[in-house]
Amino acid sequence: MNDVWFKEFEGLYGSMVEWRRYMHQHPELSYQESGTSAFVLEKLKSFGIEDIRENVGGYGIVATIKGGKPGKTVALRADFDALPIQEETDVPYASKVPGVMHACGHDGHTATLLGVAKVLQDNRKELSGNVVLIHQPAEEVPPGGAQAMIKDGCLDGVDVVFGTHLWSLVPYGKIGYRKGYALAASDTIKIHIQGRGGHGSAPHFSIDSIAVASQLVNQIQMIVSRKIDPVKPAVVTIGKFHAGVAPNVIADTAVLEGTVRTFDEEVRHKVKAELESIVENVCAAHHAKGTVEYQFGYPAVYNHEAETELFKKVMDRTFGEGATAEIAPQMCGEDFAYYLKEKPGMFWFTGAGFEEEDAVYPHHHPKFNFDERAMLTAGKAFLSVVYQYLCSTENTVLTGIGNG
Ligand code: MN
Repeated sequence: MNDVWFKEFEGLYGSMVEWRRYMHQHPELSYQESGTSAFVLEKLKSFGIEDIRENVGGYGIVATIKGGKPGKTVALRADFDALPIQEETDVPYASKVPGVMHACGHDGHTATLLGVAKVLQDNRKELSGNVVLIHQPAEEVPPGGAQAMIKDGCLDGVDVVFGTHLWSLVPYGKIGYRKGYALAASDTIKIHIQGRGGHGSAPHFSIDSIAVASQLVNQIQMIVSRKIDPVKPAVVTIGKFHAGVAPNVIADTAVLEGTVRTFDEEVRHKVKAELESIVENVCAAHHAKGTVEYQFGYPAVYNHEAETELFKKVMDRTFGEGATAEIAPQMCGEDFAYYLKEKPGMFWFTGAGFEEEDAVYPHHHPKFNFDERAMLTAGKAFLSVVYQYLCSTENTVLTGIGNG
């Protein structure tokens, strides 16, 4: 019976490509995905799934497939928002919306989960337990759809939660995973420096906000190099420095903006505290006034040990040893982190990179695209996980078909 799931899923590949390309042509920005949400809803209904909740935490959709026997509840999540990027690919299914593009592969996540939903719905009698399908809006822009959907009950009754990201930088056919911290916490900082403007020829009558802000940019480098445990990753980047109006005027104010990436919560709070201390004290030393707005973004994605080990075992049996390998932690963020703060589970990277190297672009690039066959890898991984939790008697697992 296990081969049947994979065969049925492979049979849906053409539909999944079609759904993905439709969404790719009609991308919607975070918090505005009414059309995509309606599209997903229509598909789920057409599969005959009855237990569907709309408008969960915004445009989110939660569908529950009830198995033939009682058991655990496994949640699978896919996000569906796009980005404010003008597409520069020349594919025939390029975005029809100026300035908006599915440049992170969320269209692929959604098409994959729809295919998985159809197979599970058609085989629901075999399940001992339930599957909750979480179609999530607004992953790209904090506070994000995950938190809102959780508040609205999408994890109620769920025992374990899994998600994946198609990843162009991992080759098609491979799966990248990591136990523990896998993706970084991503915070935003804004520092205002209030000096006292004046004539460029008379610094002694002024407080030069540019000179003070320059000291700050340098001093901030001391946080990662001198204050944080060197075996714990952290990045502090000042990406914006705005000040000044004329060459012969001492700037009254300066504004610095940047991003902080960390994994460990303690490190995260230490960076914040050190940043505030440096701004306060450097500004005080030069008679300026400094304030820090520290905006917490998504926390780090922490993959639970037991679920990650089980995932690796199941993937090795499904795709063969060597297809699934541990990868380094990534410094980008993901609001899947919130699900893993509530329930055990894990989040992995599904290799989606093209074989031709010059076709590979990073996520959020105007020429980003992915190998659509990766939807088969991702979907089979989802199906294998569900099978493991809801159908498995130790030695029967989904095997033998792998990619393709
Ligand atoms: Mn993404």
